[in-house]
Amino acid sequence: MTINFKDYVASVSDFPEKGVTFRDISPLMTNGEAYAAATDKIVEYAQSKGVEMIVGPEARGFIVGCPVAYKLGVGFAPARKKGKLPRETVSANYDLEYGESTLYMHKDAVKPGQKVLVTDDLLATGGTIAATIKMVEELGGIVVGTAFLIELSALNGRQKIQNYDIFKLMEY
Ligand code: IMP
Repeated sequence: MTINFKDYVASVSDFPEKGVTFRDISPLMTNGEAYAAATDKIVEYAQSKGVEMIVGPEARGFIVGCPVAYKLGVGFAPARKKGKLPRETVSANYDLEYGESTLYMHKDAVKPGQKVLVTDDLLATGGTIAATIKMVEELGGIVVGTAFLIELSALNGRQKIQNYDIFKLMEY
């Protein structure tokens, strides 16, 4: 059976603020068949890139990346918000609509030369993924690809990561 992944995305008007349409992937996550099919697509992509490690930003990057890591038999490292990681970290800032935020990774999360796939649920302006890529590279990892469930193409996030390959299941 072919799955139409968009059937499992809820589009919510005026969330988190007026004028914004939030693409909610939780229906996809709560349907075992759809979640597995989405994971399988990313696994196939990762295999074509020879991925050895997966990194995803808090929190939905974990939901996308962890099952792929499990299926490939490779590791997963989280990029986390302030105050969550107990050991030595690297960090990267990125812009939010109002202000700035910072992500952190443990210094030993990625080994130099490791081929890394960076995953998140959604590519919007690209700030989150660009910050994650920056840390992976600071640790010596080679970003061989990025994978998303959704790309919001009007926000042109791909411009921020134009040197990297992008896989996405859906586009709005
Ligand atoms: P960016 O940094 O602007 O590319 O925003 C991407 C990040 O914001 C991802 O980690 C997403 O989880 C989150 N995000 C932004 N817009 C949406 C949305 O419409 N649905 C779900 N997540 C979103």
